[in-house]
Amino acid sequence: MDARAVGGRAMTDAAPRALPFPYGAVRLKPTSAFAPAHDRMLRLARVYPIDRLLAVFRAGAGLDTRGAVPPGAWEGFGHPAEESWGEHDYPGREVAQTANLLRGHYTGHFLSMLALAAAGEDDDELRSRVDELVGGLAEVQQALAATGRYSHPGLLFASGEWQFARLEHLAPYGEIWAPYYTCHKLMAGLLDAYELAGNEQALEVVTGMAHWIAGRLEKLDHDHRQRMWSLYIAGEFGGMNETLARLSAVAGEPRFLAAARAFDQADLLDAASSGRDILDGMHANQHLPQLVGYVREYELTRERRYLAAAIGVFDQIVPGRMYAHGGTGENELWGPPRTVAGDIGRRNAETCATYNLVKLAEALFGHTLQPRFLDYAERARQNQILGSRRAVDSDDSPEVTYMFPVHAGALPEYDNVGTCCGGTGLENHVSHQAGIFFRETGAKPALWVARYTPAELRWDERGIRVDIDQEHPFADRVTLRVRTTQARPVRLTIHLRIPEWVAGGAEVAVDGRRLELDARPGGSVTIDRAWQGDESIELALPAALRSEPTIDDPELRSLRYGPHVLVARDESTTTIERSWNAQRMPGGATRADVDDVSAALAATGAVSIAGLRHEPVWNGSDERYHLYSRGADRTIGFAGVETGVPARRRADGTTLVDDLWVEPAPQDDAEMLDRLVAVCRSGMADSLVSASEARAVIGAGLDAGLGIGAEPAVTADAARRARDVVGAFSATPDAAMPPTVDIGVSPAPAASGWFTVPPAVEVRATGVAGDRLRLELRIDDGAWRTADGPVIVDREGLVRLEARAVDRDGRSSTVRRELAIDTQPPQSEARVKQLGAAVEITLVATDDVSGVDGIRWAGEGTFWATFQEAFVRALTDREQVIEFAATDRAGNEEARHRLTLPPAPELDTIAIALTPAPDIARSENDS
Ligand SMILES: [Zn+2]
Repeated sequence: MDARAVGGRAMTDAAPRALPFPYGAVRLKPTSAFAPAHDRMLRLARVYPIDRLLAVFRAGAGLDTRGAVPPGAWEGFGHPAEESWGEHDYPGREVAQTANLLRGHYTGHFLSMLALAAAGEDDDELRSRVDELVGGLAEVQQALAATGRYSHPGLLFASGEWQFARLEHLAPYGEIWAPYYTCHKLMAGLLDAYELAGNEQALEVVTGMAHWIAGRLEKLDHDHRQRMWSLYIAGEFGGMNETLARLSAVAGEPRFLAAARAFDQADLLDAASSGRDILDGMHANQHLPQLVGYVREYELTRERRYLAAAIGVFDQIVPGRMYAHGGTGENELWGPPRTVAGDIGRRNAETCATYNLVKLAEALFGHTLQPRFLDYAERARQNQILGSRRAVDSDDSPEVTYMFPVHAGALPEYDNVGTCCGGTGLENHVSHQAGIFFRETGAKPALWVARYTPAELRWDERGIRVDIDQEHPFADRVTLRVRTTQARPVRLTIHLRIPEWVAGGAEVAVDGRRLELDARPGGSVTIDRAWQGDESIELALPAALRSEPTIDDPELRSLRYGPHVLVARDESTTTIERSWNAQRMPGGATRADVDDVSAALAATGAVSIAGLRHEPVWNGSDERYHLYSRGADRTIGFAGVETGVPARRRADGTTLVDDLWVEPAPQDDAEMLDRLVAVCRSGMADSLVSASEARAVIGAGLDAGLGIGAEPAVTADAARRARDVVGAFSATPDAAMPPTVDIGVSPAPAASGWFTVPPAVEVRATGVAGDRLRLELRIDDGAWRTADGPVIVDREGLVRLEARAVDRDGRSSTVRRELAIDTQPPQSEARVKQLGAAVEITLVATDDVSGVDGIRWAGEGTFWATFQEAFVRALTDREQVIEFAATDRAGNEEARHRLTLPPAPELDTIAIALTPAPDIARSENDS
C-alpha cells in the first residue's frame, strides 16, 4: 500500500489501525434513508454556477466578476467602497467595514463538496467543475501576487491580508471575523481537489498558501500565538492544523508540519490529555476541528498527548454534553460537565460541531477499534446530520440547518446559503457513504461493517464485493452479500458492529447457518473464513422503542427506535408533559399505539404513541418538533394500562408509579405483576391508595394480560398470587383517603402552549364534600393562601403553581402545575451604520419571556433572522423601504416597523427614518 493509498498518512506505529475506504469504493443504494439527501445535494453540485463561487475572489483581486452574484449571506461582496487591503493598509475600526469578512469560506466548502462528489460518483463532469473552480482560484492567486501588495505570492484570500495582521494585534471578533477559519476552508477544499479529484494545480495553489501562512506564523512566538488562538471567534482557525499536517505528508514538506503545530492550543492540549475538563464556556466549533488535527499530528509526530487530548475531549462531550440527536453546545458554547437538560436553550447543537464530532469519532475508531466511537457516529449521522437537510430540491441553496435546536416546539433553520453550517452541510450530504465500511491497515487487512444502511463496497485489491441490503430503514434484518470477483477463495476477517441500541440480542447467520457468537450490544462479532462465490450474512438486529433520560434529569426524555431518534410533532412551544411510565413495558421498551412500530414507520413515516404523532428526526420536515418531553404521572399507569387511580404524592414528591419502576425494574410480566402487588400493599400502608383502588390497579394489570407471558408457568403463578391478593383486599374496608385536588386554568392557552393573556386559576377538589375542605394555593414557592375562587396570575414566564386540599381530619394532597405565560410581544430595533454609499443594517429583537421566534423583514426577499448578523444595502437613486417585525415563541407579534433609506445623494442631509409601518403593509408580507 503506498502512501497515497492511505490518504497521505505515514505508516508508522502511530498510523491508524483502520481507515475508511476511498470515496469511490462505496456507493449508497436507492433504498438507503440517506439516498434522497445525497441526491439532492449532488444536484446542487452539478448545477450551481462556478462564477458565483469565484465572484468574491475576483472582486477582491480586481478581476472581472463576469456579472456573477455571490452566493449570499456571509458569502457576499461586502461594501462597495471596501478595498482588498494589504496587511499594513487597515484604515481603523471607525471607518472599516465589518460585513462579509468571512467571504471565501463557502467557496472552499463548495470545492470540497465537488471533489467529494467527483470521487464518490467517479464522474468526469464533476471533475471538470473542480478543474474550473481551481483554475479560477489560481488566476486570482496570480493576480493578487502581481499587485505586489501582499506579504507573499502564495496569498489567496477574498478580503485582503489585513485581517491576519489585525489578528496578530489581537483584534476582537467584530473588527475581524476569523481569517484562519476562512483560510482553512479554502486550503482544505484545494487539498481535497488534489487528493480526491486528482487536480495537480490545486496542490500548487495550496502549497503556495501554506508557505505564506508558515511565513506569517514563524514570526510569532509561542505565547503570542496562544493569545491569538484563545480569542473568541477571531482566533477560530477551523482545522488549519489538520490540513497543514495532511499537506506536509502529501507535499513532503516538514515546514508545513511545523506550521500545523504552531496552531496547537497549549491549555486545551494539556488539560484534555491529563483528564481535566475545561470545556465550560468554550466555543464548541472553534475547538472541535482542531481535535481532528491533533489526531493527524499524533500520526505524524507519534506524540501520544495529541491522541490522548482528542480522546479526552470526546469523552467529555459524549455522553455528558450530547443531545439525543448527537449535537452539542448551546449558543455555540459548551456548558458544564454532565449537563444536558440543564443546558437546553433556544440555540442548541450547531450542525458544524456535529460534522466535526463525527470526523473525530471515526478518526478515534481508526486508532482504537473501539465500537463506542461508531455508536456515536451512527447516532449523529443518522439523526442530526441526515436531518440537517430539508426534504426539498434546490438549485441555489444547500437547504441545511445551522442550529438543530432541542427545545420544546423548535423549528428547523433550513437554508443557510453562505453560513458556516451551509458550508459543512454541502460536504455532509455528498458523503453519507463514508463511515459505513472501514478496513484494517495491518498485515491481514480485515473489514469492519460499521453502519447498516443499503450500500455496496467494491474492494478491488482483495477481489471482494459487499452489498448491504435492508427492506426499509426500520427493518430489523440486514443482509450482507459477500462476493468474490475471482474463482479462488478469499480469506477475510469481517468484523460486524453490534449497535448499542439492539434490544434482546443480535443473531448472525452465514448462508443460513446460525453462528454461536457473543453478539452483545455495544460490541462487535468477528467472522474469519475463506469466502468464495456468492455468500450471505444474515443479521438480526432487533430494535425497541425506548425512552432515553437525559443524563441530568431522569424525567426529561427522548425517544429512540433502533438508531432512529423520534420527535413528537406538536404546534406547542412549551414542554410536552406525558406519562412516560404509563407507556413503559416490562423490560424497558415504550408502548406505541400500534403493535408493529417498524411497519408503521415504514408505511407512513410516523408512529403514534399515546395519541401523539412521532416521526424520525431526520425526515427533513419543516414542522415544529419536540425532541424531549417531560414525565408527569397524574394517575397510576403502567405497561400501557391507564387505571384512573390518582398517583398521590408523598412529601418527597414520589408516587406509587415511581415505586413500580425502582431499579432493578421488572424485566417480564411476572415480575411486573409481583411488583404491582408489593407496591399496592405498601401504598395502602402509606395512605396513597385505598383497598378498592389497589384492587382496581392490580385488576387492571391482570385484565391487560400481565399474567399471560412468554413463560406460562411463571406468569400463571404470578397471576394466581395477584388474584389471591385482590381477593384478600376485597375483605379490607376502604380507609378514608385524602381528597383529590386539581388546578383548573382558563382561558385555554394559545396553540403554542403559552398563555398570552393573564390566566385565571381555580383550585378544585373531589372525593370529599366541599364544605369540609380547605383549598389553598401558592405561586412560585410563595406563601400559601386560601383559594376559594378564581385567582388571576399576573406574572410572566414559567410560573409554578402548587395547590392543596386539606380535609377536616388534616389529610391533605397536593398537586403542582407549571404555566407558561407571555402576554407581551417582543421588541425589535434596527441598528444602522452608514459607510459611504451603503448602510450596514443589523436587526435585533428581544423577548425576555418566551424568546424571539424570528424577525422577518421585507424588502428585497424575505428573511427569517434567528441569528443577528449585519447585512448591507447599497444606497441607490431612490428611497428604499425595509419593513420588519418580530414574533415571540408564545405567538405574540409586534407591530411592524418601517425603515426608510434615503436616496444616495441626500445621505448627508437626510436622516434615516424609522417609523411604524401602515397596516396595509402587513397583509402583503404575511405568508
Ligand atoms: Zn456552523
